[in-house]
Amino acid sequence: MAEIIDGKQLAKDIRAKVTDRVADIKEQYGKVPHLVVILVGDNPASQSYVKRKKRDCERAGMKSTIIHKDTDITEKELIDLVQRLNDDNDVHGLLVQLPLPDHINENIVINTIRKDKDVDGFHPLNIAAIHTGEHGIVPATPKGVMTMLKSAGIDLVGQEAFVIGCSNIAGKPIAMLLLEEKATVTIAHSKTRDLKKHAKEADIIVAAAGVPNLVTPDMVKEGVVVIDVGINRVEGKLIGDVDFEGLKDKASYIPPVPGGVGPMTIASLLENTLECFEILEGKR
Ligand code: NAD
Repeated sequence: MAEIIDGKQLAKDIRAKVTDRVADIKEQYGKVPHLVVILVGDNPASQSYVKRKKRDCERAGMKSTIIHKDTDITEKELIDLVQRLNDDNDVHGLLVQLPLPDHINENIVINTIRKDKDVDGFHPLNIAAIHTGEHGIVPATPKGVMTMLKSAGIDLVGQEAFVIGCSNIAGKPIAMLLLEEKATVTIAHSKTRDLKKHAKEADIIVAAAGVPNLVTPDMVKEGVVVIDVGINRVEGKLIGDVDFEGLKDKASYIPPVPGGVGPMTIASLLENTLECFEILEGKR
């Protein structure tokens, strides 16, 4: 029977630590970390994500501002806005909610965000830092996954880790962070020929494909550690990439979906906002 990694509780503990640190900062500096979120357009999912980010920042005692722009904002106008916020000493964390409308090049916008305000960790210099093992801002979901593994006391050294999915925001950085911890990492994607063959050999599986119930009990060995990043809405219910019910008797550790990586992502974003504040104030 697997030990359930309770992402909700773990995230609550992180939020409590962040809240304490923010209270100390307020005393020390007379101000609190400020996260600005730029939202373009009326995508309902994006609107609810940014509201949640603002709410969680404020609950931790931080300041948060949503700047909402119409879909017809030009790329140049958006870049000018990012640059103004880069230069604003009252702003410590800055993120542009993705996706952006088709007429705006997301990469150009993300690359404009100042590296040490980039709470999402998507700036190429922060991505590069993961690859070189330097200290940068680690994207929230991969950071949350690593925190979960560490909090469960899982020794990654020499372990066979199998990451399913290789997107820039989830699979690739997760794979690099596991490599950094000296795991032996295999990465799969939609063209991988034999998922089961790799899954069977894995001590740790991180599923981040966005395919409901992709990982099933017949694919894994007894005692495997499984982290499910996937969030899929099926018949009105949220489910992960892993058959949780089938695997909870075979795995040694597994988080549920919802209540696993999701809450950890938000908690990690708060940690990143705090980190950006500390980097910026340390420099000024
Ligand atoms: P994406 O679509 O950008 O990437 C999916 C990746 O999975 C691609 O590399 C693709 O090649 C691979 N893939 C697709 N089908 C596959 C298959 N059958 N076998 C092997 N690989 C396959 O998605 P993403 O943004 O990386 O998100 C992945 C999942 O994680 C989604 O369900 C998303 O909702 C979820 N997600 C959750 C959080 C969170 O906070 N929990 C954060 C980010 C993403």
